[in-house]
Amino acid sequence: MSSVTESVPVRTGHCRLTLTIDDVQYNIRRGPSYRRSKVWRLRALTGPRVGACYSVCVSGRQVSCACPDAVRNSAVCKHVRALQALQLVNPRAVPSPVVVAGILAEAGISARGQEGGAA
Ligand SMILES: [Zn+2]
Repeated sequence: MSSVTESVPVRTGHCRLTLTIDDVQYNIRRGPSYRRSKVWRLRALTGPRVGACYSVCVSGRQVSCACPDAVRNSAVCKHVRALQALQLVNPRAVPSPVVVAGILAEAGISARGQEGGAA
């Protein structure tokens, strides 16, 4: 008895996810995971803060961002809202200004990336 196995062609390539928020384009990359936390890195590709990189951290059911609006104003920032809209972050995750700073500091990860993005 013989079996016929058909080979399905598998295509490869590079993909990149670009997000636009208020006419500013951001490159999105998955950051390093630490313990049970997930980190997304958003780098501004256009706009007045080109090169600024913000980290959105998800820990359990909490999410927070390292951008000035979230940190200084304790706002649910546009970065968190956009990632929730794309369902890269659970829409039910509760915004918390404390999560990202603590997780990133504990993991030794720069909150704003290598570029040290301006606020
Ligand atoms: Zn933000």
